Amino acid sequence: MDKQIKVTTPLLPPLEEFNVYLQDIWSRKWLTNNGYYHELLEKELCRYLQVEHFSLFSNGTLALITALQALQISGEVITTPYSFVATTHALWWNGIKPIFVDIEPNTCNINPDKIEAAITEKTTAIMPVHVYGNPCNHEKIQKIADKYNLKIIYDAAHAFAVTQNEHSILRYGDLSILSFHATKTYSTIEGGAIICHSEEMKRHIDNLKNFGFRGETVVEEPGINAKLNEVQAAYGLASLKYIDDAIQKRKKRAEQYREIIDKISGISYLQEIEGVKYNYSYFAVMIDEKTYGISRDELYDKLKEENIFGRRYFYPLISTFKPYKSLPSAKPQNLPIATRVADSVICLPMHHELTEKDVIKIGTILQRNKL
Ligand SMILES: *Cc1c(COP(=O)(O)O)cnc(C)c1O
Repeated sequence: MDKQIKVTTPLLPPLEEFNVYLQDIWSRKWLTNNGYYHELLEKELCRYLQVEHFSLFSNGTLALITALQALQISGEVITTPYSFVATTHALWWNGIKPIFVDIEPNTCNINPDKIEAAITEKTTAIMPVHVYGNPCNHEKIQKIADKYNLKIIYDAAHAFAVTQNEHSILRYGDLSILSFHATKTYSTIEGGAIICHSEEMKRHIDNLKNFGFRGETVVEEPGINAKLNEVQAAYGLASLKYIDDAIQKRKKRAEQYREIIDKISGISYLQEIEGVKYNYSYFAVMIDEKTYGISRDELYDKLKEENIFGRRYFYPLISTFKPYKSLPSAKPQNLPIATRVADSVICLPMHHELTEKDVIKIGTILQRNKL
């Protein structure tokens, strides 16, 4: 039996290095609530990501939910159906009605030219996603937000360390959230963050993630418990040393994939935007069944037979899931591009341990299945 080639694998710090942190945590006996490593990781990530105000969270979903609370978003929010389901769930948990807008085929991000038509009197915010770390057209989105007085919260779960013209894309909009789930490029096992633009907002967010406490005895608002503990913060610090190397390795594999796929008709990948430094978090390809000869699902199964595990990410669209499918904006006619992309996409294995040989093997299978 060949070895399994998985879609991703976590970036684990060397165990002996992690153990040093654990010993220190054991002697400090401070396990959570703004512990030593929590504070250190916030500082280190600010520096690494070139942002100023940063609050760690226990996961990305709670960061999204809290971001909406922090800006007191209500009513309707314009968002994309082409994302992980947590994007829309965060709206639901805040009692907000999601309004789905179609995507652009070249980035898989929300189409800014379709946003204005979806705005109503109840619209309070836009929640776009930097899909696969591809930056949204933030200038167009900001213009619309300014015109209609809307807030912008970016779901930047895929956008760790992505820069555009040498600036972090986490600076776009009012707030951005990150996810540090084990499957993401950089992880704290489970974890996440909110990036904001003032010390005052950071304090507000810090209070919200700790039940709304302001000081020892005062509770000013109904907060939640979304704190990151010391063990996970230490894991994040231990693995931060290895992230540049991991991204470099991903980049090499992405280049190799592109070279192979350029020679196969019926498969395409997303073109890079000039001036963007990517993190290569995913390698998404689109299958054009007519030209390629077999469907995306057939290819997915054939890869599986060879012990290669891709992921149909994002399929199905969020708008087709039970809690959302009856919304008027969820109709497939309203989302033709997202529907087409979701039906043709497959994310090929992409991680720091993927070898040159692995990609050659995957390439051979992609070739062979072509009619
Ligand atoms: C992973 C992910 C999330 C959720 O983050 P968790 O840390 O798993 O809660 C939200 N949005 C997108 C686009 C994601 O990929």
